[in-house]
Order: sequence, then structure tokens, then C-alpha cells
Amino acid sequence: MTFYDLKMIPQILKAIQEKGYTIPTPIQEQSIPLLLDGNDILGSAQTGTGKTAAFAVPILQRIYQEKTKDNHRRIKALVLTPTRELANQIGQSFSVYGKHTGIKHTVIFGGVSQKKQELSLKNGAEIVIATPGRLLDLLRQRIMRLDDIRYLVLDEADRMLDMGFITDVKEIIKDIPLSRQTMLFSATMPKEIVKLSEDILRNPIRVMITPVTATINAISQRLYHVEKKDKTKLFIHLFETLNIDSAIVFTRTKHGANQLEKELIHHGIKAQSIHGNKSQAQRERALSNFKKRKTDVLVATDVASRGLDITALSYVINFDLPEEDETYIHRIGRTGRAGLSGVAISFCAPHERKLLAAIERFIKTKIDVVSTHPFAKAIVMNQPNASKTKKKKYYGSNGLYAKTNGSKKAYKKSGSQSTNKPLHKDFYYRESI
Ligand code: AMP
Repeated sequence: MTFYDLKMIPQILKAIQEKGYTIPTPIQEQSIPLLLDGNDILGSAQTGTGKTAAFAVPILQRIYQEKTKDNHRRIKALVLTPTRELANQIGQSFSVYGKHTGIKHTVIFGGVSQKKQELSLKNGAEIVIATPGRLLDLLRQRIMRLDDIRYLVLDEADRMLDMGFITDVKEIIKDIPLSRQTMLFSATMPKEIVKLSEDILRNPIRVMITPVTATINAISQRLYHVEKKDKTKLFIHLFETLNIDSAIVFTRTKHGANQLEKELIHHGIKAQSIHGNKSQAQRERALSNFKKRKTDVLVATDVASRGLDITALSYVINFDLPEEDETYIHRIGRTGRAGLSGVAISFCAPHERKLLAAIERFIKTKIDVVSTHPFAKAIVMNQPNASKTKKKKYYGSNGLYAKTNGSKKAYKKSGSQSTNKPLHKDFYYRESI
């Protein structure tokens, strides 16, 4: 399929060609026709999939086609996004795709003076890209109104939830007319987001993109069974023996990230953490230090790391396994990019074995177990409740990973639960790649 097949107006086609895109990405191929037809969308996709054009192009096109003299320069589309960087990034995309349409947009976020933003709103814009806090401030000050909005995008909804913006988001949506088209994008679908989607979307079509499955084959995946208390020691051991020079290490919690950062620094490893409790400036600094190779290890929580564009990363370490199977793919997809080979190492403590089983079902692969590490022995001996449970044992006498308790039947059943379970009975699914 080409962009011509997507029935785009010449003004946008030209901009896309100038940008150098030749074929639409899967999310663009799926979403653009649905959005041009006026459907609401619930999209499981993260940054890096071409998601911005997937919503920006139809919005620009529909506004362009509906444009009349009297509704010129009223705010018709609102894109809510969690961070200033994303807001700016989306703003730039609207500039690129809309450059021959004459449609104006403005970007609004907190942490800077409000004056310039007020001025650009006064000058008129059809599209506003905003972080929720500042937007709500402006609404409360009656500096802007949302009564003419026809297109609403919630971008990275799960991250907005994690950053505590959901109440603000709901407050903002109350001001937007119901006669609108709504697009909600979220890399993961926690319960609160499912509930929000039920409240704000009308007969949505679900679009699912698993962005990095294509690169997964280039990634060597390894699994280390290890006691929780030995994880830091194992990491240091691997860091030294594998000569790791740049790695993202994922922890489950912000506290865990801080703790690990401290321990690594104490051990002389140049590490810095990035998570939701850090200020914007701290996060930017940590990222820039990592990119410039001033640090070797970036300790991150999932949400903070979303959208980070880091190339040439050779190692991704799952210090803690993710709670959601799909997150595993998002995490390991940060290595092995652009034809580079990458290594994804996962630590699994006894209490995480259920998560491991879910991940292996999801990726339909058994991750290779490395059993020859200094802390392997401890885990075999300390395997909790091994004799009490009726489940099949995980280890053979040699300490190697022998069998999981996931029979073929269970595999199929849970696999279909994790990937295909409908959120609403009237959703239909489109999976790609
Ligand atoms: P996004 O997920 O929207 O942040 O896009 C990720 C990157 O992919 C950006 O650098 C876009 O410029 C680029 N991109 C988006 N769509 C296409 C396309 N159809 N072909 C090539 N690159 C694209």
C-alpha cells in the first residue's frame, strides 16, 4: 500500500513526499482510512510506530476540507500528551504534514511563562497540542475555550495516568462537545485506561500495533534465574564480565530505580536513573548524559523511558520483569535497532515466574536460560515451596531450566487472553506485523 491509496488530499501527499516517506507504517495504513471515515479509535501503539502521522494526517485533512471563512482559526482539534518533549515533537509533526494546508497549530505546556502561549492562542490556531496541567490553567482563567473542538486525541494515555494527569484530562474533556471524534492511544491498557476509553469513545475500533516484533529476531534474549537479593550482584558481575558499555536497566518501581542507581554508583559504575519522580530537567540531563556516554547505565522505569530515542544501545536489562507481557517487547525493542544486534537480559526471581510464563506465552518463545552464573546455585537450593506446589518443577537436577508449567493447552488459552481479549464486546481487532 502507498500513501496514494489512503485517499489523502494533494496538499498533504506533497508534504509526505517532501518528508521522504514512501510507504505508510502499519498504524498509518490501518488508522488513516478509519479516521477519515469518522470512526473513534483505541490504539495500542507507542512512539516510534509512526503514530503521530496516523492521527495528524486525518485531522489536518478533515479540518482542511471543512474549512469555511467563518470558522477560520477556531480551535477544532486538541491533542493531549503527557510531556513537553512529546508536545513539541507532535507540534513539529503537524508543521511538517500540514505545511501546504495553511492550518495553524500551537503548543502549550507548563514550566514556562504563559504569555507567549496566550499570544499564539489569540492569534488563532485550529489545532492545540497541550499537556493537561497548563491547558486546564488556561481554561480556568478563561483564556481559551474548547466549544468548537471536533477532534480529540489522548496520546500516551497510560503515561498520563502514571504521571497523575488523569483527573485533569477528565476535567478538560468535560468542556469538549460530545459531537467529536476521539482517538485514544496507549502503549499498555491498564484497567483505568480501559474504563476511560469506555467513557469517552463511541463505538471505537481497536488498532493494535506491536512495534518491535520485526526487530525481535535480531535480539539475543537471555534469562537468568536469580534470588531477588542477588540481582544487583548479578548485574555487577555481568557488567564486568560482558564488558557492557551502554545499557538501559529496567526496574519495576521508582524506588527500585533509585536504589539500584545508588548501589551501582557505590560500586564505581557510572549510572543515573530516570523515572516519574524526577523533574523534567533531571530527566533530560540523565538522558543526555547517557547519550553522550558520560554514563554507562540508565536505570529506568517503563513509563519514564517511553519515547526515548536512543540508538546503538547494545544491552537492555530487565532487572525486574514487567507486570505486563507486552511491555517486555517494548523494552527489549530498544536494542537491536537499525540492523544492529542487541542483547536483552532478564532477571527472574522466584516470585516473578508467573510473569515470565506470561511473557513467554506472549512472545511465543522460550527465552534461553543461562544457568552458569555465580548466583544460580543459590536459587536452585532456595526454590520456595517447590515440594508444596503441585506445579511441575522448573529446574532439573543440574540446575538448568527444565520445564515450565505452561502446557500447550495453557499456552494457547492464555495467549489468546493476553493478546486478543476484547476490551469491549463491539471492538474489533486488527493486528499487524
Ligand atoms: P512517531 O511514532 O509518530 O513518533 O514516528 C516515529 C518516526 O518515524 C518519526 O521520526 C517519523 O518521522 C517517522 N515516520 C513516521 N511515518 C513514517 C513513514 N511512513 N515512513 C518513514 N518514516 C516515518
